[in-house]
Amino acid sequence: MSTERKYKIAIIGSGFAGIGMGIKLLEAGIDDFVILERANEAGGTWRDNTYPGAACDVSSHLYSFSFEPNPNWNRMFSGQAEILKYLKHCVKKYGLEKHISFNSNVTGGKYKEDLGIWEIGIENDLPVECRFLINGMGPLNRPSVPDFIGLESFKGDAFHSSEWDHNVDLKGKKVAVIGTGASAIQVVPSIATEVEGLYLFQRTPAWIMPKPDRKMGKIEKWLFNKIPFVQKAYRSFIYGVNELTAFALVYQPKLIKLIQKVSIRNMKRQVKDVTLQEKLTPKYSMGCKRILLSNNYYPALNRDNVKVVTESIESITEKGILTTNKEDFNVDVIVFCTGFVAAEYPEHFKFYGRDGFELSEQWKNGPEAYLGTTVNGFPNFYFIIGPNTGLGHNSMVFMIESQINYILDSIKKVSVKKAKSIEVKNEVQKAFNDKVQNKLRGTIWNSGCASWYLGKNGKNTTIWPGFTFEFWSQSRKIDDSDYNWY
Ligand code: NAP
Repeated sequence: MSTERKYKIAIIGSGFAGIGMGIKLLEAGIDDFVILERANEAGGTWRDNTYPGAACDVSSHLYSFSFEPNPNWNRMFSGQAEILKYLKHCVKKYGLEKHISFNSNVTGGKYKEDLGIWEIGIENDLPVECRFLINGMGPLNRPSVPDFIGLESFKGDAFHSSEWDHNVDLKGKKVAVIGTGASAIQVVPSIATEVEGLYLFQRTPAWIMPKPDRKMGKIEKWLFNKIPFVQKAYRSFIYGVNELTAFALVYQPKLIKLIQKVSIRNMKRQVKDVTLQEKLTPKYSMGCKRILLSNNYYPALNRDNVKVVTESIESITEKGILTTNKEDFNVDVIVFCTGFVAAEYPEHFKFYGRDGFELSEQWKNGPEAYLGTTVNGFPNFYFIIGPNTGLGHNSMVFMIESQINYILDSIKKVSVKKAKSIEVKNEVQKAFNDKVQNKLRGTIWNSGCASWYLGKNGKNTTIWPGFTFEFWSQSRKIDDSDYNWY
């Protein structure tokens, strides 16, 4: 098919990954690129997740680009609106608007080996051609709504936390929240005061730690504005403290027992009812699922209009939720805080690489890449936040920046070598993944609980099992010998 949409580089998604990549391309003097964004505004997960209470549980001074510090963050842990504002500021400041093609929903792609060109399908639009394709979609963009019996029969309003329906007024309504993960613990305290009744359906209690959140002081902001080094030092300090968590998670699981005690003491201080305390006590090792931070979740559960339901859900009815002990919970609204499909590659999203390799087929036993970035059989194709780059303890923006740097180095080297393409060697990718999986074997993330870190076959394809500086150090530069250059 003929096309007029030809670029050197196409990036999928305009979240932290796409925006950061675009900025670094411009800084490197490369402006022949497009960012393909399915929505009509930038921001990725911080555009989509507008649920009440949505905020980041990594401090903003670290959860932001190292090259674009914001001395004016209002809180230690910013809310969704402020983070989205920051991302839009980055788009504007670095002149990325003209590079973003909004409403461009990528459907798949095909590598034309003879030409060294990727052809990208766009829903209801002309395809895009590019030499280098960078997938910055991120793993947390496919809401998971369990296939409950009777789901379709419910007559009230129902939506997923990441697709919050702001037209539905919750005031005075009876609301069911299903799930007790990172999103739920922010939603529940934010709506508990306005709803008439809130039933929280908990399958597994989360490990929750106090959130060291506070308003940033005027003097701090002034200092950060006037002496940028102070903010840099502050960022490094937060980074260091977070890395210590990796030490416990990966190398010293016994330390986790100590942190568990702090968590339980905190819960018991905030929840007086002994039966509720028992319901909220996790029976698995901390860190196996994401460790959550909150100061207002437990207090919200003390409220008279909030009830924690631990009986399993049997079905969804016209009027609400029926549990396995045959108790009916009639509600006006159901909110699914049931997470995302993260560990499985979307089968409908077809990318055909060299020799007709197809990505979802290649990844049928779980996604695998080299340094979470390049995949054998897929020349000139990169992932940002690809397989095994997720974190349970530190800022994803650090990982994103490391990958951006690596990709940039790769694209530059292809030019220097006057090569048509670059493709990671199969044996290099395999050796890397064997190492990652071996390391994961002894860690808390693979210690037996169910989490979105694991695929259907139990393989952990999401977590980077180590310090983030180890990832940074391995991805600082392309090692020529890891790749085939055509
Ligand atoms: P999540 O942490 O995966 O939690 C999903 C919840 O739904 C769990 O409690 C799960 O129970 C429950 N659930 C799933 N299927 C169920 C079923 N059939 N019946 C009953 N309960 C069911 O999802 P999330 O809260 O959306 O968070 C996902 C990720 O998004 C986080 O881990 C984090 O990386 C990111 N996030 C980050 C922030 C932040 O502050 N930075 C905020 C929100 C989200 P089980 O535990 O029993 O499976």
